[in-house]
Amino acid sequence: MTTSPAAGMQTVAGAQQRILDGISPLRTERIPLNEALGRVLAVAVVSRRTLPPFDNSGMDGYAVRWRDTQGASSQHPVELPVHGESRAGAAPGRALERGTAMRIMTGAPMPEGADAVVRYEDTDSGRDRVQVHVAVTHGTNVRHAGEDMNPGDEILTAGRRLRPADLAACAALGNPWLEVHRRPRVAVVSTGDELVDVEREPGPGQIVDSNAVAIAAAVREAGGEPVRIGIARDTVVDLRRALGEAARCDLIVSSAGVSMGDHDHVRDIVDEMGSMGFWRVAMRPGKPLAVGVVQGVPFIGLPGNPVSSQVTFELFARPAVLALQGATEVHRRRISARALQDMDKPEGLETFHRGVLTPAHHGELPGVRLTGPQGSGIMRSLVIADCLIALPAAGQQIAAGTVVEIIPLV
Ligand code: AMP
Ligand code: MG
Repeated sequence: MTTSPAAGMQTVAGAQQRILDGISPLRTERIPLNEALGRVLAVAVVSRRTLPPFDNSGMDGYAVRWRDTQGASSQHPVELPVHGESRAGAAPGRALERGTAMRIMTGAPMPEGADAVVRYEDTDSGRDRVQVHVAVTHGTNVRHAGEDMNPGDEILTAGRRLRPADLAACAALGNPWLEVHRRPRVAVVSTGDELVDVEREPGPGQIVDSNAVAIAAAVREAGGEPVRIGIARDTVVDLRRALGEAARCDLIVSSAGVSMGDHDHVRDIVDEMGSMGFWRVAMRPGKPLAVGVVQGVPFIGLPGNPVSSQVTFELFARPAVLALQGATEVHRRRISARALQDMDKPEGLETFHRGVLTPAHHGELPGVRLTGPQGSGIMRSLVIADCLIALPAAGQQIAAGTVVEIIPLV
């Protein structure tokens, strides 16, 4: 039997887009470079310097005129007198005289007249005279001024999430401050009469609120500041209180209480305090996702089952946290892999199984296998996983050997 997504259900991509449509980037602030890791640039970084700033040596060795080394080999070395030294951190005192060599260290400025560097390893390392064992060509082992960056080059685009290499480039360009978007404060609300905090020993019928721990950590990883609202009981009164408190943040992420149960009031309260946008996405895990606005603040109600809440956070809340920071890339990349085993899925629901990748070898695609039982309460399926396997809505069986899309998580 083939079914299209049931009426009223969103596709994953449609739901992602509707969430992002309701989000605008937060204001910007100026912060010290050393605090900018993981933050999102609000203004492009344009080079105001030439890097490297001067021609310099890429090796420890001898600065030479390349022509003076012509014909040199280990059998027939060329011998040159050594005049002077160029060390890192100082301007070379003198120019290189014709027919001589100058000792030079990695990063030290090339003396005027020199056009190549012979590495120590290609010489006898002589002090006063040096025997050169190789013929070099123009520019050998020289790092040229401006070969990396030049004034006016756009080095980092606005909307980029800053990585260590980006910060290093900013430092080299002399930018001790960066303009970034403010970190979103993300309210994390758990709902459920069965929940207790991790510090407490669960009594009969109780379980630990593990979702809030995962969600808060994932918020932080996405560059947001989690604000723990705590556990709301499954009552209209307590949910009102919790969502009211949560609405002081830039985004509200709740878990549970959004399905069809007798005590699932979250959607009603969202409607009362704002508006429900949509609920239910044609996917597994995570079908009962609820999206709306509470007192003007975007609201994402994740399902309660631990795997569902974490997978839907990945697909829907993480992009929202990044979009609030003005990030241009909010979705993780998807790559192809080959299924190493048969996989089942429900017809009509986009399915996100948890997978483990096997590295690709000799031109093959990486392989992917399931983490074991895929129930939405099996936390170990996520602990073991290094990727999600994104299977399309249509179809119920994926045969081993099929090329599938995966979303790397690490
Ligand atoms: P619900 O959506 O409220 O029906 O919850 C679905 C399932 O998720 C139930 O088994 C809940 O006990 C479980 N659950 C709900 N909230 C949490 C939470 N914060 N941490 C761990 N499990 C939860
Ligand atoms: Mg519940």
